[in-house]
Amino acid sequence: MKVLVINCGSSSLKYQVLDMDGEILMAKGLVERIGLDGSVIRHEKVGQDKFVNETPMKDHKEAIKQVLDAIVDQEHGVLKSMAEIGAVGHRVVHAGEKYACSVMINDDVIKALEECVELAPLHNPPNLLGINACKELMPDIPMVGVFDTAFHQTMPPESYIYAIPFDYYTKYGIRRYGFHGTSHKYVAQRASEILNVNLDDLKIITCHLGNGASLSAIKRGKCIDTSMGFTPLEGLVMGTRCGDLDPAIVSYIREKENLPFGQVNEILNKKSGVLGISGVSSDFRDLEDAAAEGNERAQLALKVFSHRVRFYIGAYIAEMNGVDAIVFTAGLGENSINMRDIICNDLGNLGIKLDLVKNRIRGKEAIISRDDSPVKVILIPTNEELMIARDTVDIIAGETKK
Ligand code: ADP
Repeated sequence: MKVLVINCGSSSLKYQVLDMDGEILMAKGLVERIGLDGSVIRHEKVGQDKFVNETPMKDHKEAIKQVLDAIVDQEHGVLKSMAEIGAVGHRVVHAGEKYACSVMINDDVIKALEECVELAPLHNPPNLLGINACKELMPDIPMVGVFDTAFHQTMPPESYIYAIPFDYYTKYGIRRYGFHGTSHKYVAQRASEILNVNLDDLKIITCHLGNGASLSAIKRGKCIDTSMGFTPLEGLVMGTRCGDLDPAIVSYIREKENLPFGQVNEILNKKSGVLGISGVSSDFRDLEDAAAEGNERAQLALKVFSHRVRFYIGAYIAEMNGVDAIVFTAGLGENSINMRDIICNDLGNLGIKLDLVKNRIRGKEAIISRDDSPVKVILIPTNEELMIARDTVDIIAGETKK
């Protein structure tokens, strides 16, 4: 089956076409500046050619129309007609407590996701625009929703309940949800394949370290804790997000700087993290360069970042009473030799012994711990699109069996 995977942002859209009969990536692309001047689609027929088309796209429907045109284009396309698409898999950020796994999208699902808009005001609306546009343009092709929050729905209450009046949970749904679930699930499954050990017999800590960053504790294939919370602001220090904070700081900053509440939220989301500490950049490559040149605040930002990752690793080892594997993934986790080294440094008493030579690798699957390390440290490039396409095929197969 050929699956179209769609990941819609507010003004951008990423897509891939996969032939799931061999899990082969056929085409991928990115649409940018939807609804703005200079809308552009960058399409790649994998391994063959790339083309760029700057053309007005006033909304997501027009963007998806461009994607479909590119996919069936005589020269750059990979399919003869749209009818070859067996299903569309949509990445959706927030499904609240409603869905613990991927589902076939129907009107009830769309309604449930609309109800989650309050929980993810930046992400769910563009995800829904993508779903509705596909529904209009391809009414006969089944669609599956794959949710960032779903994998974390197995957390026990002690991991997801905040210590605030319980009514706020029952009335407003305030609890830990967790994000990046598709990535955590994918790399945990790959880790079990690489180690040739059943997921049911493994305790894994997955470190998704990108611009947004989160850790998950995965015991017997189920997520039992994760560092992001009610929103993707909690947990680790990130590129521009503050991560864990004494909540009293919010009202204190607001008072001292005489700021409206929304602005404090904006500062904590967009001007904090390693950018806020360093004043240099949110990009870890810039920070590593600045730190190497002696910039003390860049050095401090990297230290604070790694301190928090180590803090969570320790916590999750305690929660699971041990760990068999630690997985690094996403932009920083896959590429920063230096950061993996700092994070794993001096953890020998916990059974974590990084091999400094094997660690000299970027963006490729590899076991990077020493042969005598009781805990395996593994580098696994994430592949959320493949995970979405796999779930899409599974859900469609389940539906046809019914
Ligand atoms: P997101 O999907 O959350 O935007 P990514 O997973 O693409 O993020 O990760 C982006 C981050 O990865 C960038 O901030 C960059 O700092 C980091 N990164 C990418 N390549 C390298 C590298 N070679 N060395 C250090 N950091 C890197």
